[in-house]
Amino acid sequence: RAKEIGRNTFCYFSAEISTTSIGELLLENDLFTALERGELLLHYQAKVDSRTGELVGAEALMRWNHKTHGLISPQIFIPLAEESGLINAMGEWAIRTVCAQLRSWIDEGLQVLPIAVNISAHQFVQQALPQLLADILAEFAIPTQLIELELTESMLMGNASHAASTLHQLKDMGIEVSIDDFGTGYSSLSYLHQFPVHALKIDRSFISQINENSEPIRLASAIIAMAHELGLQVIAEGVETEVQARYLVEHGCDISQGFLYSKPLPAADFAKQLKLG
Ligand code: C2E
Ligand code: MG
Ligand code: MG
Ligand code: MG
Repeated sequence: RAKEIGRNTFCYFSAEISTTSIGELLLENDLFTALERGELLLHYQAKVDSRTGELVGAEALMRWNHKTHGLISPQIFIPLAEESGLINAMGEWAIRTVCAQLRSWIDEGLQVLPIAVNISAHQFVQQALPQLLADILAEFAIPTQLIELELTESMLMGNASHAASTLHQLKDMGIEVSIDDFGTGYSSLSYLHQFPVHALKIDRSFISQINENSEPIRLASAIIAMAHELGLQVIAEGVETEVQARYLVEHGCDISQGFLYSKPLPAADFAKQLKLG
């Protein structure tokens, strides 16, 4: 009897596990053809000057428009893409799509601004990013300053010598790198200082703590002060309220991004904010 229950319990759990894996496998399989089917797209979220609100650039954020599931969040499919090794092809697609987009905006006579592309941990290790970027920028005749990269702290800490050499090559090319989600990882500013990065993006979790009655919370202002001390630009992510925006101006934050200014938008909607040359 006990044996039977044991066996049933075992069957129950293994059924659960295999259901999840099959779901993931199916999604992974779909992801494989998503690129060819044109189901991946990029949305663009404005970056603005914190003081003036003037548009200074954008971040490209990937979306998967699945044929039956609809829009799937990158928080779900980026990890799947990393597991299955598809991340390199998808990352390359994102860089190429941004460059093609910039080229068509330039040809339409729009005053384009730098666009930041997110790079995943696996992609950072596996792909020769400086060469890949040089090739794609040349293919579309895009000035290097128009492409920026967003990496996370853990990517630099994981393999410091690879990271340092990659970052030096990117800097020599004129490609600026920001540290995304800053404050959620090791957050060793002195360690970070050894790498040639241009800006820190303060993680949304620190920005969301700023409200009317949060005077004692000084983490965001401390990050801004230290980053400036190290000669780094500061970008705030996830700015949603006027109170947060005012706090950031008062504490010298350079650039802001968040729903207060704009949500990530389809390319055509974002382009309406670009001035005619
Ligand atoms: P991230 O790079 O830190 O991007 C910021 C995320 O915060 C985006 O979520 C954005 O839509 C969201 N966000 C922006 N402003 C606000 C705000 O005011 N309030 C709130 N609540 N959220 C805001 P999204 O687009 O779902 O992307 C999630 C993450 O997926 C990104 O975090 C990034 O790590 C990753 N990701 C997105 N696109 C790509 C890509 O092309 N390649 C790679 N490797 N990763 C990507
Ligand atoms: Mg980012
Ligand atoms: Mg971020
Ligand atoms: Mg984030």
